[in-house]
Amino acid sequence: MPPADSHLDVAVIGAGILGLATARALLAQTPLALAVLETEDRPAAHQTGHNSGVIHSGLYYRPGSLKAELCTTGRRALEAYCTEREIPFERCGKVVVATEDSELPALDELERRGRANGLAGLERLTQAGLRKHEPHVAGIAGLFVPETGIVDYSAVARSFAADVEAAGGEVRLSTAAGAIRRDGDGFAITTPGGIVRCRHLLNCGGVQADRIARRAGLDPVIAIVPFRGEYKTLRPERRGLIRNLVYPVPDPRFPFLGVHFTRRIDGAIEAGPNAVLATHRHGYRRRDFSARDVLAMLSYKGFWRMGRRYWRTALGEVHRSLSHAAFTRALQRLLPELRPEDLIPGGSGVRAQALEPDGSLVDDFRFVEGPASLHVLCAPSPAATASIVIGETIAARAAEHFSL
Ligand SMILES: Cc1cc2nc3c(=O)[nH]c(=O)nc-3n(C[C@H](O)[C@H](O)[C@H](O)COP(=O)(O)OP(=O)(O)OC[C@H]3O[C@@H](n4cnc5c(N)ncnc54)[C@H](O)[C@@H]3O)c2cc1C
Repeated sequence: MPPADSHLDVAVIGAGILGLATARALLAQTPLALAVLETEDRPAAHQTGHNSGVIHSGLYYRPGSLKAELCTTGRRALEAYCTEREIPFERCGKVVVATEDSELPALDELERRGRANGLAGLERLTQAGLRKHEPHVAGIAGLFVPETGIVDYSAVARSFAADVEAAGGEVRLSTAAGAIRRDGDGFAITTPGGIVRCRHLLNCGGVQADRIARRAGLDPVIAIVPFRGEYKTLRPERRGLIRNLVYPVPDPRFPFLGVHFTRRIDGAIEAGPNAVLATHRHGYRRRDFSARDVLAMLSYKGFWRMGRRYWRTALGEVHRSLSHAAFTRALQRLLPELRPEDLIPGGSGVRAQALEPDGSLVDDFRFVEGPASLHVLCAPSPAATASIVIGETIAARAAEHFSL
């Protein structure tokens, strides 16, 4: 049983991959009384444990951007960590497939970005070249990205949790942070086990991060809107259709990569995810509904502005969510041999999509400082890939801001 009324130097809210990576990096800098508070009974219960399991290469991001740098350095750090801890991962590579002439300029841009971001072994593929990598995939051109890999991020997060405990920190599961009030220079956090007092607060609450920030007295400006990503799985006897990872050329207007095929580290082939607005911040099933979450969306002006901008795309995603045939058709562009009966329902993940008041989708990391607190308000993909270096970046920033 955790101490009910402990006084911590730092309370980290959220045992997703970022809360744990940051806690671990903080403890590596300096000895601290630190606890990670987690609502669920296990680490990685939300975005981290429901993602695609891809170690991204750094292909997509604008050269020189924080995302590009964190992804490439983070990928290397993650691979080194997995090797050291014997966490299975594979650098299996992926292909990005253009299926129409209109996608070629975007494919050229991806290749340019990949080279500028220093990716090794990037290879432009003709139709025949594509077939060598993925014999069943159809496209007019492609890009082979050998540095992309796969891993189980829940396993990585569990290992980070063990590191936190080995360094003298605590991971308190089933400990939701409820009300948060100022307590002297620090905070008093209400949890089911009692009040937790801390000098500093680090908010890594994922899909709840805007609410936690508000409870800690900060105006987050952005709002988090949940998008459910639904996956299907290829029937085991049809796994031979895909060798590794197959992606479409993404639509540059959106921070989503488009429905793709991913081989999981356990050998399963997943297809998806789509991106549908969820009516619950933990809305893994279509029927999940939270009046509080829906009202929060409807009362945010950025939500209506987003709706005006993207309603057409949103309708397409809803259609693919409701219609198995439409979901299959989207994938058949990449894999014409795919039949509707090859796909069975898979898992789903809920993405914490941060929205600006003007309705634009926040596409980069956003860390905001408050008095005695630091808030991770947006940590989109490739945050799992880059978790070790993001954790170090946040820890360095926290150490400076908190004068640790
Ligand atoms: C569908 C999908 C696919 C993705 N694919 C990839 C990929 O292939 N590769 C990649 O690099 N990235 C991917 N991402 C992105 C990546 O998974 C996330 O960026 C990353 O997991 C974010 O980690 P986090 O710790 O910020 O959030 P989370 O993992 O969501 O953790 C937040 C934690 O905070 C806890 N929490 C919330 N409120 C409270 C509270 N009040 N008290 C205590 N605890 C609280 C939650 O229970 C949760 O455990 C994907 C994301 C999604 C949704």
